[in-house]
Amino acid sequence: MENRVFIDPNNKSIMRIEERCVNCGQCLNTCKNLNNLDDDCINCGQCILTCPMGAIVPKYTYQDVQKYLLNSDYTVIVSTSPAVRVAIGDEFGYEPGEFLEREMVGVLKDLGFDYVLDTTFGADLTIMEEASELKRRIENQKDLPMMTSCCSSWVTYMEKYHGNDLNLLSSSKSPISMQGAIIKNYFASKMNLNKEKIINVALTPCVSKKSEIARPELEGMDFCITTSELAMMIREAGIDFKAVIPTDFDSLLGKGSGAGVIFGASGGVMESALRTAYYLLNNEPAPIDFLNFTVVRGEVPIKEAFVDLKVTKIKVAVINGIKNIEMIYPRLRDYTFIEVMSCPGGCIGGAGQPMMSISKLQTYRDKRMKNLYADDANLKVRNSYDNPDIKEVYRKYLGQPLSEVSEDILHTKYEEKIKTSV
Ligand code: SF4
Ligand code: SF4
Repeated sequence: MENRVFIDPNNKSIMRIEERCVNCGQCLNTCKNLNNLDDDCINCGQCILTCPMGAIVPKYTYQDVQKYLLNSDYTVIVSTSPAVRVAIGDEFGYEPGEFLEREMVGVLKDLGFDYVLDTTFGADLTIMEEASELKRRIENQKDLPMMTSCCSSWVTYMEKYHGNDLNLLSSSKSPISMQGAIIKNYFASKMNLNKEKIINVALTPCVSKKSEIARPELEGMDFCITTSELAMMIREAGIDFKAVIPTDFDSLLGKGSGAGVIFGASGGVMESALRTAYYLLNNEPAPIDFLNFTVVRGEVPIKEAFVDLKVTKIKVAVINGIKNIEMIYPRLRDYTFIEVMSCPGGCIGGAGQPMMSISKLQTYRDKRMKNLYADDANLKVRNSYDNPDIKEVYRKYLGQPLSEVSEDILHTKYEEKIKTSV
């Protein structure tokens, strides 16, 4: 085995610039520390953030997006993940983790995107479907514990290392995949757009999503670009980010709820899903402490809690960093619901975020996390089921969670995979 991670030329998430590599072995250390894998890439990209030479980089696709932005035959739609708005400022001299949602929307408009939508809407949809699945599994006492499936590196890990337990993964697609499906199937007809001429772009903190959108069963998103690619586009276009006019998201699939925003942090999916699961199980809003569920927040490797859902009490776990799942795997059946995120701190620590020295990473992640939770606390709509746009899409198009249409376009299947780099 080499002293460094093996990167297959077909890897959709990362690539190595050979001339820069000094064969120091740091990437292999990172991979082993985080994932404990035997040279088997799951596309998390964390080796990008710790390579001292900048030799491993995301597989860039922003130049392809730029070509479509110049082609007036196409409607180019970008959907932004929560963690980008608290990281893009790090590239342009703002305070670490500064919340720059409206500046981010403004600059995307300046770059020429026809519509700027918020993936927190897709996150709210994911919660509606996933919490409904959890309710059904609890009522039927089947396929428990349910495991989240929005982190694509985690899904790949399960497919490679726990192929017998794929029934435990939630079948709900990730927020960007739901967003892609809804844009092409619903937004297009609402806005009288030819869906064949829509180019859907996911702007994410994550390089693993570049591989996710290439899965044939998850059609809907055409490109995935990272926060650092957005910074490149801004610089190449000669835009002064600090002079950009702050702008609101486009409406209809515009902003999501606070629950959608905290998806960007480890524990956020769990907290959001529990708010909605309580509501679905009891037909009443969850108690106020569900809106500030601090026990599942932060960067502890394994966070556990007993949760009183009124009709039943359940035990949940939030796993921060994939290798930590193996610590609880022998007692998996003690739990009812488990969230797993690959990157440290969740998506805010994704490998598509701005590069910086390793010593600063923790401070920046802490600030990003704090600012996402602050936004949730300030929002009027904090539950996915209260989001008026979500209510409308169910009323006018999907019917209800887990309906035939929902199952058709918002859910997916997983299959066992062999353990080699992909
Ligand atoms: S960390 Fe970077 S420089 Fe070191 S071996 Fe890996 S790719 Fe090469
Ligand atoms: S992307 Fe993640 S899994 Fe793949 S080699 Fe790098 S650290 Fe390992």
